[in-house]
Amino acid sequence: MTARIRIGIIGGGLAGITLAIALVKHPHVDVQVYEAAPQFLERGAGIGLSPLTLEALDDIIPSVIDLLKTQAGAVELDPARLVVGSGPEAGALVSDVEVAAGLTMNRAPLLQALISRLSGDMLHAGKRVKSLEQTDSCVTVVFEDGTDVHFDAVIGADGIFSSVRNHVVGEEPEKYAASPAGWWDCRHLVPFEKARLALGDESFKVDRQYAWLGEGASMLHGVVENRTMVQCIIAVIDKTFSTDRKRIVTRQVLEDALPASWYEGPVAKGMVDLILDQEEPKGYAIWEHKYTPTYANNRVCIVGDAAHTTSPWQSAGAGMAVEDAFILGHLIGNISSAGEITAAFRVFDALRRPRCQRVIDTGRETGRLFCGQNEAVGVDAKKLNEAIGQTFANVGALNLESHKEEALQTMRAFLGS
Ligand SMILES: Cc1cc2nc3c(=O)[nH]c(=O)nc-3n(C[C@H](O)[C@H](O)[C@H](O)COP(=O)(O)OP(=O)(O)OC[C@H]3O[C@@H](n4cnc5c(N)ncnc54)[C@H](O)[C@@H]3O)c2cc1C
Repeated sequence: MTARIRIGIIGGGLAGITLAIALVKHPHVDVQVYEAAPQFLERGAGIGLSPLTLEALDDIIPSVIDLLKTQAGAVELDPARLVVGSGPEAGALVSDVEVAAGLTMNRAPLLQALISRLSGDMLHAGKRVKSLEQTDSCVTVVFEDGTDVHFDAVIGADGIFSSVRNHVVGEEPEKYAASPAGWWDCRHLVPFEKARLALGDESFKVDRQYAWLGEGASMLHGVVENRTMVQCIIAVIDKTFSTDRKRIVTRQVLEDALPASWYEGPVAKGMVDLILDQEEPKGYAIWEHKYTPTYANNRVCIVGDAAHTTSPWQSAGAGMAVEDAFILGHLIGNISSAGEITAAFRVFDALRRPRCQRVIDTGRETGRLFCGQNEAVGVDAKKLNEAIGQTFANVGALNLESHKEEALQTMRAFLGS
């Protein structure tokens, strides 16, 4: 029997854990996951998984929708509704976005539901990676606690400020680091009834995400946790592209950031009150990777936000991480020795990088449309409908089966078989 291929995954967020599930089903692969935090835990707001993401996830975990409904309180959503939120057309329907339907849930139970598919002995918490070294046959991972471990290959799923990314992109990694996308947002999770009272019945007749588009800002809300809670987000333009990751948010900060035309519309007052009704509201900078020269360097590659952080306007970041796991799972499932891993990683880079960069670029354009920054479109419902239809079409325009077949064929060509 040939030796199993030893793969270390760095980072136990949605990307790392989904990839581990995709790899662990192959008996010829041994997978270990290393997470810097003392526990495998997700924090923060809810997350939406599109029909395409769920299709990829279902290939990795059969019957995943049932799992997410029973273990993660996932709510099935109608297509997201986009409405004008400020100015003379406030209240006008822009469109219902099919690719933004699917399931929504909170991040913490989503990660726990996924982790339940893995055996505890492959999960190592409290292990922060300090550096990597690779030779032609091995990758050594050095941890901050002074220990090290050797693998045939390493996959970095260590998020926006990834250190594995620095190793992969080579010289001058700071040139390719994540940078501010030009917006910041503040979020709050509020009880359903409270949100319904503040925002009105109309927004809660059907389970769906709502995005309110307008001058200089955008507001989003959607049900999570078995319809008991509502996630609320206000996102505003940051003209300074500040690299401060967090800022204090007060009523005055929001008044300064939101043009007066919002307060004449149907949603701003209620959303501002809901957002401020928490201890020490904070604003978070939105980041993105503007360009990445490669996702793979010999026996090391990167996935998820480490490879392609995108602004959240298309709700596509975790979706791309799931697509990564789907493709890498099939590629690595189809090699038979550690020597072939570099071919799998090269193919992964060749296919996934153009797709993900397109989503990042259309994500940025979507944000500009949501916040009235596209001068030709402004806050005109009809023009927004046309322009946003094009940006979202790109996210959903992936045939998973063809993507997989192309990956496998390209790898066979690389391997000369
Ligand atoms: C406001 C907002 C809303 C969003 N909404 C959606 C949505 O609706 N749908 C969607 O698809 N996407 C959405 N996204 C994007 C999505 O959340 C991310 O793309 C996804 O969570 C990234 O997962 P990840 O595992 O790549 O990164 P992370 O979740 O950042 O995980 C990285 C992990 O690596 C660990 N780590 C870091 N450094 C080290 C180290 N040196 N050693 C070991 N471990 C390390 C970290 O502790 C962390 O656990 C949204 C993003 C934002 C900001």
